[in-house]
Amino acid sequence: MGRVVILVLLLVLVVAWVGSRIRRARRARAADGQAVSTVRAATGMVRCAHCGLHLPAQDALTDGQRNFCGEEHRRLGAR
Ligand SMILES: [Zn+2]
Repeated sequence: MGRVVILVLLLVLVVAWVGSRIRRARRARAADGQAVSTVRAATGMVRCAHCGLHLPAQDALTDGQRNFCGEEHRRLGAR
Protein backbone atom coordinates (compact mmCIF):
# COMPACT_ATOMS: atom_id res chain seq x y z
CA MET A 1 0.00 0.00 0.00
CA GLY A 2 2.83 2.38 0.86
CA ARG A 3 4.30 1.79 -2.60
CA VAL A 4 1.05 2.99 -4.24
CA VAL A 5 1.11 6.18 -2.17
CA ILE A 6 4.70 6.86 -3.25
CA LEU A 7 3.78 6.21 -6.89
CA VAL A 8 0.82 8.60 -6.67
CA LEU A 9 3.02 11.23 -5.02
CA LEU A 10 5.63 10.81 -7.76
CA LEU A 11 2.93 11.12 -10.42
CA VAL A 12 1.61 14.32 -8.81
CA LEU A 13 5.15 15.73 -8.65
CA VAL A 14 5.81 14.89 -12.32
CA VAL A 15 2.51 16.43 -13.43
CA ALA A 16 3.20 19.59 -11.40
CA TRP A 17 6.76 19.78 -12.79
CA VAL A 18 5.62 19.33 -16.41
CA GLY A 19 2.85 21.87 -15.89
CA SER A 20 5.27 24.48 -14.58
CA ARG A 21 7.64 23.80 -17.50
CA ILE A 22 4.81 24.35 -20.00
CA ARG A 23 3.73 27.56 -18.26
CA ARG A 24 7.34 28.81 -18.25
CA ALA A 25 7.79 27.95 -21.95
CA ARG A 26 4.55 29.76 -22.80
CA ARG A 27 5.65 32.83 -20.85
CA ALA A 28 9.07 32.77 -22.58
CA ARG A 29 7.39 32.53 -25.98
CA ALA A 30 5.14 35.48 -25.15
CA ALA A 31 8.18 37.51 -24.06
CA ASP A 32 9.92 36.56 -27.33
CA GLY A 33 6.92 37.80 -29.27
CA GLN A 34 7.05 41.13 -27.47
CA ALA A 35 10.80 41.43 -28.12
CA VAL A 36 10.30 40.67 -31.81
CA SER A 37 7.55 43.26 -32.17
CA THR A 38 9.72 45.84 -30.37
CA VAL A 39 12.60 45.16 -32.77
CA ARG A 40 10.22 45.35 -35.72
CA ALA A 41 8.99 48.74 -34.53
CA ALA A 42 12.56 49.96 -34.08
CA THR A 43 13.57 48.82 -37.57
CA GLY A 44 10.24 49.64 -39.20
CA MET A 45 9.48 51.68 -42.26
CA VAL A 46 9.37 55.46 -42.05
CA ARG A 47 8.04 58.01 -44.53
CA CYS A 48 10.09 60.76 -46.09
CA ALA A 49 8.57 64.05 -44.96
CA HIS A 50 9.36 65.61 -48.35
CA CYS A 51 8.44 63.08 -51.06
CA GLY A 52 6.48 60.51 -49.05
CA LEU A 53 8.81 57.63 -49.95
CA HIS A 54 8.79 54.77 -47.46
CA LEU A 55 12.16 53.45 -46.44
CA PRO A 56 13.67 51.42 -43.58
CA ALA A 57 14.14 53.54 -40.46
CA GLN A 58 17.86 52.69 -40.30
CA ASP A 59 18.36 54.14 -43.83
CA ALA A 60 16.43 57.33 -43.15
CA LEU A 61 17.95 60.68 -42.30
CA THR A 62 16.23 62.24 -39.35
CA ASP A 63 15.73 65.90 -38.58
CA GLY A 64 14.35 66.02 -35.07
CA GLN A 65 11.00 64.26 -35.48
CA ARG A 66 10.80 64.05 -39.29
CA ASN A 67 12.44 61.43 -41.48
CA PHE A 68 13.86 61.94 -44.96
CA CYS A 69 14.99 59.54 -47.70
CA GLY A 70 18.20 61.46 -48.39
CA GLU A 71 20.33 64.49 -47.66
CA GLU A 72 18.71 66.39 -50.56
CA HIS A 73 15.22 65.96 -49.19
CA ARG A 74 16.31 66.75 -45.67
CA ARG A 75 17.62 70.07 -46.99
CA LEU A 76 14.44 70.69 -49.04
CA GLY A 77 12.18 69.56 -46.20
CA ALA A 78 13.94 71.74 -43.66
CA ARG A 79 12.77 74.92 -45.37
ZN1 LIG B 1 12.33 62.00 -50.12
